[in-house]
Amino acid sequence: MTVSSALIEVASLSKVYRLGTSEVHALRGVSLRIAEGEFVALMGPSGSGKSTLMHLLGCLDTPTSGTYTLEGRSVSRLSGRDRAGIRNSRIGFIFQSFNLLPALSVADNVALPLLYRRGTKSPRSRVEDVLGLVGLGDRAHHRPAELSGGERQRVAIARALVANPAIILADEPTGNLDSATGDDIMRVLGGLNEAGRTVLIVTHDAQIAGHARRVLHMRDGELVREDSGDVSA
Ligand code: ADP
Repeated sequence: MTVSSALIEVASLSKVYRLGTSEVHALRGVSLRIAEGEFVALMGPSGSGKSTLMHLLGCLDTPTSGTYTLEGRSVSRLSGRDRAGIRNSRIGFIFQSFNLLPALSVADNVALPLLYRRGTKSPRSRVEDVLGLVGLGDRAHHRPAELSGGERQRVAIARALVANPAIILADEPTGNLDSATGDDIMRVLGGLNEAGRTVLIVTHDAQIAGHARRVLHMRDGELVREDSGDVSA
């Protein structure tokens, strides 16, 4: 693969949580580059720092030390307000528990990120487009409770896509799904990646990670190994 400019560039990223008088070194100098168009899985045992790294990459938190550059912009020292702006416009989040609002229709859930953005032309047609991309064009007026778990996660994927983010960050996106449905969701993410989307997922599951093209392994706050995913898995 040719080396394109890094979408994400992280150097010597550390995160120390202080609990009273004790310190937890959740990240110990992580360096990482992710190019535009990559499909990356982050694996590692519980407590190895995966969520902490995802939070930093998603601009939900700031590092104790080290640098983070997203699309050429240094984002590691921004204020909470500026980080919120980046989250809303450049990051699409997908969570294990879907995080849909039960009182809203599928279409209104998907449209939520557009509420925080001015100037989106014809948001309705944008919502229709992304629902079509995840195969739920005929479910726009349903409520989340009327959908299966896999369909709810597809809604969450559509919501993550709607504002056209630079990267999709998915934290255990298949954790609440049976394995066949989980594979199905990974195929949706794989299809988006083939269409050019940059995707980073956190997972405990090697089978799920096998859908990615690059698998990063964390242990005790460090990236210890990297291999290529096995797309036939
Ligand atoms: P993983 O996602 O791989 O399970 P985490 O990033 O959640 O790992 O946690 C890494 C380490 O940091 C763990 O020891 C965890 O207990 C600690 N940790 C995570 N979040 C906090 C926090 N908000 N306050 C204190 N310690 C935390």
